[in-house]
Amino acid sequence: MTRYPHLLRPLDLGHVTLPNRVLMGSMHTNLEETRDWNRVAEFYATRARGGVGLMVTGGMAPNREGGVFPGAAGLFTPEDIANQRIVTDRVHEAGGRIAMQILHAGRYAYGPDCVAPSPIRSPISPFPPKELDEAGIEKQIADIATAAARAREAGYDGVEVMGSEGYFLNQFLVTRTNRRTDRWGGAYENRMRLPVEVVRRVRAAAGADFILIYRLSMIDLVPEGSSWDEVVTLARAVEAAGASIINTGIGWHEARVPTIATSVPRAAFAWVTRKLMGQVAIPLVTSNRINTPEVAERVLADGCADMVSMARPFLADPDFVRKAATGRADEIAPCIACNQACLDHTFSGRISTCLVNPRAAHETELAIGQTETPRRVAVVGAGPAGMACALAAADRGHAVTLFEKSGRIGGQLNLARRVPGKEEFDLLVEWFTTMLSRKNIDLRLGEEADTAILAGFDAVVVATGVRPRDPAIPQGDGARVHGYADVLSGRVTVGRTAAIVGAGGIGFDVAEYLVQNAPSPTLSIDDWRSEWGVADPAAHRGGLADAHPEPAARTVTLLQRKPEKPGRNLGKTTGWIHRATLAAKGVRMLGGVNYERIDREGLHVTFGEARENPTLIKAESVILCAGQESEKTLADTLRAAGVEPHVIGGADHAAELDAKRAIDQGTRLGVAL
Ligand code: NAP
Ligand code: SF4
Repeated sequence: MTRYPHLLRPLDLGHVTLPNRVLMGSMHTNLEETRDWNRVAEFYATRARGGVGLMVTGGMAPNREGGVFPGAAGLFTPEDIANQRIVTDRVHEAGGRIAMQILHAGRYAYGPDCVAPSPIRSPISPFPPKELDEAGIEKQIADIATAAARAREAGYDGVEVMGSEGYFLNQFLVTRTNRRTDRWGGAYENRMRLPVEVVRRVRAAAGADFILIYRLSMIDLVPEGSSWDEVVTLARAVEAAGASIINTGIGWHEARVPTIATSVPRAAFAWVTRKLMGQVAIPLVTSNRINTPEVAERVLADGCADMVSMARPFLADPDFVRKAATGRADEIAPCIACNQACLDHTFSGRISTCLVNPRAAHETELAIGQTETPRRVAVVGAGPAGMACALAAADRGHAVTLFEKSGRIGGQLNLARRVPGKEEFDLLVEWFTTMLSRKNIDLRLGEEADTAILAGFDAVVVATGVRPRDPAIPQGDGARVHGYADVLSGRVTVGRTAAIVGAGGIGFDVAEYLVQNAPSPTLSIDDWRSEWGVADPAAHRGGLADAHPEPAARTVTLLQRKPEKPGRNLGKTTGWIHRATLAAKGVRMLGGVNYERIDREGLHVTFGEARENPTLIKAESVILCAGQESEKTLADTLRAAGVEPHVIGGADHAAELDAKRAIDQGTRLGVAL
């Protein structure tokens, strides 16, 4: 008897039956743009072998003007269709099914040729769109329908018409972006004409025996967004026009409410899809922050949807479904929703991968094969780099001993998990614990490895991590100064006023930890909705109401020496959330300071190169978050003794150390050993 009866139940779509209720949601990985079709095919085939019911590709442009950026992939030529055949054939050979997402970006297209219902520039793009005339609208519809017909020719099992997230079709639906006075604007029946016509023409072009998913924005999270009546009206019209599945879209890209970041509670928006259940007869898919089979099963069992969409979890673990179905759910590598290696890469033009699984989208390059010469490998330090290396080396068939001088694995991950909104790090530490116990790894907790102990190994990997940098600020009587590790681990009590030295990732984390009073809102969907003003779209257009953040637990000032806005170097897709969270809690952020001294009154600073404007930042406690230095003592000692170790993670390079680089470096070394 499976623990996931709802999740693993087949779904009959009429002409085809999906083996389970799991959809791999669309992700733009930038893989298609490499034009390495073997690599693209392997990415999807790996996930098909992992048992997912249906996959949706990253967005493919229906025409040049609709591409997310100039040169975005699409089915424009017979060669494009032949290339996509490589992908679909490989997926079908692997027993999977795949639909192609047709994504017309409208005014979100990052290029000068972008088009939209009205010439209103989006706040997230520098390019003002051209307003389409009647012929221009007809061309867009025809191009989308043609893309669907070509997708069928290329062997796809279906298409997903992207109608949410503030893209082209969504732009027609709301008065925020549609100010037209012709038959495509004005009353809602006019504003929805284009999306409905697109579905009708796609169905006509692709035929009856073809999956047609419509991704419908159920809660726009922007001013002047759709009302709930409009959402229901559209869903019914889309069904009547020929859609076979409706997928849930949550929030426009320009929304100032996080929708998929790690601080968003799990399944935070399943209630929105549930509101639509029973209003249409075709299956509904729910989405956003569903990352374990337990959460997915609960959402389905609660009647929130007929199917769940997960996207990033399939980067973290392509075998998600197979492991869930075979009693190995605890071996599923978890997506912690950090965005660091997926969306942050996508939006900076790099190939997406995964912090937890660096092999994602690198399947052809980073394969773990069995070694022909098993060796005794010692790994010192069970932080992310050391653990990743130990697992990969063990998978290769080496005999691995992992030394950790503290009594627990995890290293800096144990600090991250203490930060409100970063609770998912718990799951990652749990997963590493499980995997280390399942592999043939001799884990020595509480044991400090030295030259003598390491002498008997064929290879030594030093992953001893980092130590906090001491900024050496002069201290007077009564100064209360703490390191971030003592604060986050709860070893010290911090006063009601605090100054934080250093506004990097950890400075921001500590600030969020210090201002949070009540339990983390990430643990309660209601609390989180109140913090961000996410309302029922039946009561508030677009589901947007006033935000009511809890008052801050402390008065906090966050400082840095660089004369720029603190937080500029945080994650590309998540930095704004951290800045907004702290702003909502009244945290003062100062750049361009010199630290002069700390005393019982607080932190004394001056500004600029001339050290002007001496200022006291009143603070009962001063917390040091001034970056890290590599812990290289063991590596140096080994070298002095004539042993050349492999040095990885923070011990190798402390600047901008993060778990992504540590796990990637550890995995790559483990594969190469
Ligand atoms: P970091 O991001 O490199 O920031 C170090 C901070 O210390 C900077 O604000 C720097 O600013 C300041 N600093 C450096 N040298 C100093 C000195 N001698 N005296 C006073 N201040 C000094 O390092 P981190 O905050 O320790 O984080 C480590 C890494 O963990 C980050 O790179 C990040 O990748 C990862 N991380 C990310 C997040 C996140 O994105 N939310 C959260 C946690 C950790 P000035 O030099 O301008 O003063
Ligand atoms: Fe999930 Fe982070 Fe991996 Fe992206 S990088 S798939 S958010 S764990």
